[in-house]
Amino acid sequence: MEADSTSTQDASSTQVTSTAPVPTPSLPPPPPTPTRFLPLWFNDGNLVLQLGQKWIIKVYRHATETQSTLLKESFENVAAANAVHTPKAAEGMDVDHPVEGAHDDYPICLYPPAGFTDDHLLLMFQYLFPSSFGPNEPKITSSDHLPLMHVAHMYGCAKVFNKAALGYDVARYKSMSPMRRLHLAVQFDMEKWKLLALNELMGLPLFHLTEEHIQLLKSIRRPLDGVPDKNPDDLYGLILRIRTKVLSTRLKLVTASVDIARDASCSLGEHEQCNAAWLLYWSSTFIPTWIGGRVLYESEAVDLLRGPFPLLPMNKACQSTHLKTLQDSGMFTEEGEILTAGTKLAVKYHL
Ligand SMILES: [Zn+2]
Repeated sequence: MEADSTSTQDASSTQVTSTAPVPTPSLPPPPPTPTRFLPLWFNDGNLVLQLGQKWIIKVYRHATETQSTLLKESFENVAAANAVHTPKAAEGMDVDHPVEGAHDDYPICLYPPAGFTDDHLLLMFQYLFPSSFGPNEPKITSSDHLPLMHVAHMYGCAKVFNKAALGYDVARYKSMSPMRRLHLAVQFDMEKWKLLALNELMGLPLFHLTEEHIQLLKSIRRPLDGVPDKNPDDLYGLILRIRTKVLSTRLKLVTASVDIARDASCSLGEHEQCNAAWLLYWSSTFIPTWIGGRVLYESEAVDLLRGPFPLLPMNKACQSTHLKTLQDSGMFTEEGEILTAGTKLAVKYHL
């Protein structure tokens, strides 16, 4: 998880100036010298923060607090502690002694989560104050998404978290496996990702589960109430059950639709080609796509069946009539309903 902070450090070294060593009771001796990060040093700011050992920034308290109730509460706690420790300041005595967070000699210290760097914490504040990126669009590398999710999650900055999560999702759209998504969804308690991952795990009957995956899914138990008794007592069992139902509807599609109704515009002889074209198409293209690969939604299945059959063409009128028959039979929507019901049940297990 340790990210390479060297390049960030080099890139930002042109933007920063050193401050004098800070002799402050907030820092343990011997104090390392934090550096002002100029893009986040607002002269009219009213909140001075030290980020780990490395950075010191001056931002706007109210603007920061609106992004995170967790930060708001911790700043209020600091203010309360200040009021206790500097009662004379309130009485107008000893007013030269600044309160913590209000002066760069007395910053409020924040730290990154274990395993992450001060630069990751800095990046979160850059996203809280996007003008710090300058006139250019913020450039976040794909290796920053996950650390940013961790930092934003720890400090309760939902907007930054969602932005990072979206970036992570987009960058890995094709390659993020449903198990990986499920891991992250549980770690960060992301309801939407849980639903997506479970839906995908159930709708991909051939998605390979390793022994490790199976052990994990078996360890996810259902609560005593909330899930009907007839359902399996672990998530692995439930996923297999839904997969079986899904495969069964797909098998029905194959076996129940061999007879193609002949349109009036199609001659008896020509219609033999329709039958052959359909058999060839579903066995060579449609069924392999439908069974494996990825979740195929109803609209995609319909699009696939509406397109040209590459190996042997089918009479257009017969093809669209046949597609309508399949749609009217509710086979596609039936699968959607099975997945929706299965997913709803699955999130009730102790994820
Ligand atoms: Zn025909």
